[in-house]
Amino acid sequence: MSFETLGLGPNLLRSIGEVGYSTPTPIQAEAIPLIIDGNDLIGIAQTGTGKTAAFTLPMLETLERLTSDPSRRGKTRALVLSPTRELVVQIHDNVSAYAKHLPLKVATIYGGVNEGPQKKALQHGVDLVIATPGRLMDLMGQGVADFSGLEFLVLDEADRMLDMGFLPNIRKIVLELPKKGRQTLLFSATLSRDIEKLTKEFLYKPKTVEIGRRTNPADTVEQCIHQVTKSAKMHLLTHLLEDNQLHTVLVFTRTKYGADRVAKQLSRNKIKAGAIHSNRTQNQRARALQDFKDGKLRVLVATDIAARGIDVEGITHVINFDFPPHPEDYVHRIGRTGRANNVGHAISFVTPDDSGALRTLERKIKRTIYNKRPEGFDPSKIPSPPPQSSPAGRGNSGGGSSFRPKKSGGFGGGGGSGGGGKPRRRFGQRRSSGR
Ligand code: AMP
Repeated sequence: MSFETLGLGPNLLRSIGEVGYSTPTPIQAEAIPLIIDGNDLIGIAQTGTGKTAAFTLPMLETLERLTSDPSRRGKTRALVLSPTRELVVQIHDNVSAYAKHLPLKVATIYGGVNEGPQKKALQHGVDLVIATPGRLMDLMGQGVADFSGLEFLVLDEADRMLDMGFLPNIRKIVLELPKKGRQTLLFSATLSRDIEKLTKEFLYKPKTVEIGRRTNPADTVEQCIHQVTKSAKMHLLTHLLEDNQLHTVLVFTRTKYGADRVAKQLSRNKIKAGAIHSNRTQNQRARALQDFKDGKLRVLVATDIAARGIDVEGITHVINFDFPPHPEDYVHRIGRTGRANNVGHAISFVTPDDSGALRTLERKIKRTIYNKRPEGFDPSKIPSPPPQSSPAGRGNSGGGSSFRPKKSGGFGGGGGSGGGGKPRRRFGQRRSSGR
């Protein structure tokens, strides 16, 4: 299968050659001809499958074909809605590369930056708009956007947009768009009931393309867990990073505060690390991401939402410093490595408190994740934390996760040097208070 057989014109084939793609990915092979034929489409695909090109290329092809029609000039003809600024920028980067030889103007719309230039772009007429729903709603409310000639609507990462509470905004935006002559494409990692409802609302006789199992992580990612106590996580992370094979590493934490804390601690240990989360300004986020892409940062620590648009080539490892409570987040996180069929690695730190979430995940993905002892990691060597001024004794403080070396049976420690993994035993009878 080659791109030549999918119905794309010479200008796009040229830029595809220039970006270096030789064969279409499965979702591209299936989706591109259907979109060029004018179908509405539901694309169910994990991140990293090449889905951005799967909707961008045929859309650009159609836009180019009809570009000589004078009634279409000066009007916005395609709108892509996407959940985060990073993702908008990412899609824009892709579009710019693919549309290099096409006479199309593209604008990005997202919050956290001055809206002046975005308004101007909309007023002067751009062919394609890539936007987050919130800022676009604001600008539509100011009457600066004209979507009366819209031919394409793309809802990218629709599941995430619903999770982030964008549905009311999306509904309002779509209500303002022409129904007739509009082709609608919806992409999502999973096909939940809510997504199905959305497709009924917005799409017309859609075709469905589904790549891989609905909630299964990308098959190219090697996954394992390390059992660890909460207080030993930072030590374990630092220990793992002594291995240079962890070359470009994306670390996930649950909270923004946690992301900053981990990045700072790594920097203190002379490991080049940065953090991105929604409390940081757009500039700070963009700089950290760029430094990570350029290899100036070896580790990027992120929260789920901020990491949404991260498409950095060659992320060798994803580390779940905090185990994600929802299986969907796990799938998204590990999809940041192993992209476009490179082998990637996903390591998850699992504390006793996470055992429920781990079980739920494994049920969902119908797979047991390999439990591996971290090679050479000896928790008994971790210096004790300074004594706290809490009541004497230890046990039942509720927070109770400070590390106590165990001679045997403690996770990650005890019996010998670790090394290879054994089939996992559950956390078994270890008590996990509070869950
Ligand atoms: P996506 O799933 O759209 O985020 O794409 C994941 C990565 O795959 C991006 O870095 C793309 O540049 C890359 N990619 C997309 N299509 C192809 C292709 N046909 N061949 C090689 N790499 C691709």
